Amino acid sequence: MSILERAVQEIADEMRKRTDRGQVASYIPELARVDPNAFGLAVIDAEGNVAAAGDADTPFSIQSISKVFTLTLALGKAGDRLWKRVGREPSGSAFNSIVQLEHEKGIPRNPFINAGAIAVTDLILSGHQPREALGEILRFMQFVADDYSIAIDDKVAASEERTGYRNVALANYMKSFGVLDNPVNFTLGVYYHHCAISMSCRQLAMAGRFLSRAGRNPTTGHVVIPAERARRINAVMLMCGHYDGSGEFAYRVGLPGKSGVGGGILAVAPGKASIAVWSPGLDPAGNSRLGQLALEMLTKRLGWSIFA
Ligand code: GLN
Repeated sequence: MSILERAVQEIADEMRKRTDRGQVASYIPELARVDPNAFGLAVIDAEGNVAAAGDADTPFSIQSISKVFTLTLALGKAGDRLWKRVGREPSGSAFNSIVQLEHEKGIPRNPFINAGAIAVTDLILSGHQPREALGEILRFMQFVADDYSIAIDDKVAASEERTGYRNVALANYMKSFGVLDNPVNFTLGVYYHHCAISMSCRQLAMAGRFLSRAGRNPTTGHVVIPAERARRINAVMLMCGHYDGSGEFAYRVGLPGKSGVGGGILAVAPGKASIAVWSPGLDPAGNSRLGQLALEMLTKRLGWSIFA
């Protein structure tokens, strides 16, 4: 067993025993049905070695982790023009907060809070039918993960669509400032569906490899995005990837990361590894409680914090 495999296995064993698991998200009814005792961890190092433990092959709803991939796509389409409709500063507010939008004239603080991600999705949708835009997002995910079995869980999307009053409010508010170009229900339809992509830790760690490898897909050697862009996406993940818990995540884990209310976290150790962890119980900021703890233990053990 390698040092990495041993670390991953021991952390997963330790997490199995913990009782302080946080609360499973319930505002999307379908997510409330998930087993709170699940825990998965998968790490892919720079040589392509995979270490996985626990429920690393069980698919879960990636939710806001999808926003890393929509940001990547939108930057590919619009380049720096994207930053006209969304900022890149930490918000210090909850993921679904509306307060800053009024002060900032409908321009969301960053692409990872819900408002910002909806604005990014709207950009990807422009010039397409919702079905085409969604297909493009899903195909991109399959391509970077090198796995064409990845799919959308329509039940989760429908569940959020029925209860997404906050997101409807955020989107309409932005629309009133002219920040969204497409009909609000079209943009939200695509947004809910990309949040409802289901992936396992192993698939997610595969998908994150290009961010840990200066923009390259190690399977094909192809450049997915320029190294400079990968660096910048990692910077936004570090500052904004955990909403009002981003400072805490940087302090404890020391890596760029993006969480989702499904309990997943994708973390990037530049030049070293792509890491995915999943435990459905969340802390009050909406970030996986044991997911953060497992990453803290892993980076400490392997010396992977970007702050050395
Ligand atoms: N789809 C979720 C929402 O819009 C995503 C939130 C999250 O994962 N933080 O509320």
